[in-house]
Amino acid sequence: MSDIASRLNTIRQRIANAARIAGRSEATISLLAVSKTFSAAMIRSAYAAGQASFGENYMQEALEKIEALADLRAQLEWHFIGPLQSNKTKWAATHFDWVHSVDRLKLAQRLSEQRPTHLPPLNICLQVNLSGEASKSGVAPADAISLAHALTTLPRLKLRGLMAIPAPADTLDAQRLAYRKLSQLFDALRTEGLALDTLSAGMSADLEAAILEGATLVRIGSAIFGMRARH
Ligand SMILES: *Cc1c(COP(=O)(O)O)cnc(C)c1O
Repeated sequence: MSDIASRLNTIRQRIANAARIAGRSEATISLLAVSKTFSAAMIRSAYAAGQASFGENYMQEALEKIEALADLRAQLEWHFIGPLQSNKTKWAATHFDWVHSVDRLKLAQRLSEQRPTHLPPLNICLQVNLSGEASKSGVAPADAISLAHALTTLPRLKLRGLMAIPAPADTLDAQRLAYRKLSQLFDALRTEGLALDTLSAGMSADLEAAILEGATLVRIGSAIFGMRARH
């Protein structure tokens, strides 16, 4: 078995264990393999090991890999998860299936206008800034509900749920606390009648905490592909 195949197995086991402890079905949690900085060949190995959804952060790099893997385009699902600049929305709208990092209306309007009509609506998550750090991307929790409602009016987008990247925390309890805020917001939006099914939360270091708090999609990079050199 390749290194990537065996690490994917380990991650799937971590997901299954966390689901069991949370009293949830493993089938409610999907795995996004975060392939930023790693090669198209490594993505191909992960695909051979049964992984079809990949997350990328940097547009130019992502487009090169999507092109290199064009033969698999119909089998793969590409998720853009990095900060998105307005001048790159066209690429996201054209080449991706999902964008997790939508945090302002202007960006969403551009994505909706630029989504090609031959493709299904672009799946999006509203990124929430849980820590309140000014430098971080994401909408403030207090503004999330009104922005979510506005996003649902855009014809070529489908709002699927929320995404967050909390500040790193050392203990399971501290990790859970941040994710609990996110899942409470998710519940509040659903109570308001928004048909959301995706809570994009959890990375290599804290996927258990995220799953205990209701994550439906975990974004895992280093635990699958290895350590990243700084980008
Ligand atoms: C890089 C990245 C991940 C994966 O992080 P790991 O710690 O390598 O699992 C998840 N989500 C986002 C938004 C990222 O940028």
